Amino acid sequence: MAKIAINITTGSLQQNEMIVGIDLGTTNSLVAIIHPESKKPVALKEHNSSSLVPSVIHFGNAGDLVVGNEAKQYLVSDPAHTIFSAKRLMGKTYKDLGDHTASFAYKVIDDEGSLVKVQVDDKFYSPVDLSSLILKELKTQAEHILKTTVSKAVITVPAYFNDAQRQATRDAGRLAGLDVLRIINEPTAASLAYGFGIDKEEVKTIAVYDLGGGTFDISILTINSGIFEVLSTNGDTFLGGDDLDMAIVNFWMSQNNFSGNENEVKQQLRLKAEEAKKYLSGNDIFTAEHNNQKISITKTEFEEIIQPIIEKTISCCANALKDSGLAKKEIDEVIMVGGSTRTPLVKQMVSGFFGKQVNDTVNPDEVVALGAAIQADILAGNTKDLLLLDITPLSLGLETMGGLMDVLLPRNSKIPAKAARQYTTYKDGQSGMKIAVYQGERDMVQDNRQLAAFNLSGIPAMPAGLPKVEVSFLINTDGILVVKAKELRSGIEQAIQVKPQYELTDEDVEKMLLDSMQNAEKDIAHRALVEAKTEAEQLLETTEKFIQKNITGLTAQELNETSLAMQALQLSLQMEDKNLIQTKTEELNNISRPYAERIMDTAISKSMRGESVNKF
Ligand code: ADP
Ligand code: MG
Repeated sequence: MAKIAINITTGSLQQNEMIVGIDLGTTNSLVAIIHPESKKPVALKEHNSSSLVPSVIHFGNAGDLVVGNEAKQYLVSDPAHTIFSAKRLMGKTYKDLGDHTASFAYKVIDDEGSLVKVQVDDKFYSPVDLSSLILKELKTQAEHILKTTVSKAVITVPAYFNDAQRQATRDAGRLAGLDVLRIINEPTAASLAYGFGIDKEEVKTIAVYDLGGGTFDISILTINSGIFEVLSTNGDTFLGGDDLDMAIVNFWMSQNNFSGNENEVKQQLRLKAEEAKKYLSGNDIFTAEHNNQKISITKTEFEEIIQPIIEKTISCCANALKDSGLAKKEIDEVIMVGGSTRTPLVKQMVSGFFGKQVNDTVNPDEVVALGAAIQADILAGNTKDLLLLDITPLSLGLETMGGLMDVLLPRNSKIPAKAARQYTTYKDGQSGMKIAVYQGERDMVQDNRQLAAFNLSGIPAMPAGLPKVEVSFLINTDGILVVKAKELRSGIEQAIQVKPQYELTDEDVEKMLLDSMQNAEKDIAHRALVEAKTEAEQLLETTEKFIQKNITGLTAQELNETSLAMQALQLSLQMEDKNLIQTKTEELNNISRPYAERIMDTAISKSMRGESVNKF
């Protein structure tokens, strides 16, 4: 039944409950709506304050907690009780964090392979709990500004977020009392905020460059007839404005002789460095004092020390472009997202790379939330005909003979997506078939991640190779994968829904891509070996069958010759030498092929006499 919302301050009925757009950022979060009168997206803010709510939580002594600006001041004075960058922990295990655990000033707990928790005094918080605290604060602030309840939202996530992390974000919303109607990608939201895709006739290719506080994302999208497609994504989950701040801190440390504990000094200089960085976005020199010592940095010095950091983002751009299959000149627009793109050198280098002026007319801090508000408005039924499509970050496939990965949906497939392939049995009378679903880019499944496995059982007894098992993959718009296996001759079928994989992180995605590139040559060689072995083993099995039954009436000499060739092939298998295996397979094949032909002849003549060919 449809619900009607009531404005709690005016008591009037609201036909369309407001759905807000939320940018739940690593560093800053904010809420935006479509203004009821101007119909334009606006970020919500209290009078005279910023729309940005720092994604920081401080846990006080008496169990009280504050979120946002008020919490931010405790980053230096009470780091053990002040949680920042909780978004980075979403859906991650301690192992996933690797060396980065050191960058958290608070206690991140290794929960023996399961998802990380944060410990504050004697209490434990999951990243979902922490994100929900931020969302709750955003909800409260929004309700205060709008003077109405806010219970529905669209929340944005990085394009790199996997299903698990998206699900974790949804859970956080639910915990905060929000009905999360849709999770959308940040670059898609940003494109919407630029108004791309609103005009139905428009065909455009857009690069979205998003440099935030601690993460970097580059995405290539196309819009055609109002439909958005993400062609490719790339980025670095540990690269952002914080690195620019640290570069300034290190610069100051190298230029001055500060007294006191080095780590403490660094911590104290961090906020000043951020101030300097922001100041240098519009000025040529920054000066300040630290414990009565004068510190300064010029724009030129700043640009020199951050150049290598920006350079890294440019390589990611090159990779994303390569994955999209497009040439630079095919990119129509390059849009700037994230507070760090206010640094002039960033815009300059990105313009330089793409060979065109970047688009920076929409406030880069707010652009994602504004786009989320537009998406919310679409969901509220106020704007029609816009459809958002996403892509799979990694390839999805099945394990086949010899542990090989058989890809059904290649990485960067557009969601929703569907693919199917037929498989058969390799043993006579085989009644079951293991369907193991993997995600990843490597040739051997052991190097990829297993998502699910089940056994299709009850296949009626048939000779090897006769059953036809069709396995289909379907990813719906929510990113849930349904794997179905059906034996076409008998009609038996089984399906499984792959639950969001909490354990796969965006870093894993990057690592898997990198691994697959680094191991490409080795993998190809290994695949060739496995394929040769599989073929050899199958040939050995069939030949064995001929010999045992001796249905073709082989002579003693033929038998001897065959068994020698079989032994040679077996030996080559033990030696794991691909070329030798192929040669020996070929030799055995040459010997046994005439027998097979003889069987065919016998079978045909028998069937002409009305006998069944299915006997053997
Ligand atoms: P996130 O998406 O990670 O939450 P934001 O998009 O809010 O982050 O970006 C925050 C980063 O932007 C911080 O590192 C902040 O210092 C930086 N930033 C904000 N304003 C400026 C500015 N004027 N010049 C340079 N960097 C800025
Ligand atoms: Mg952001």
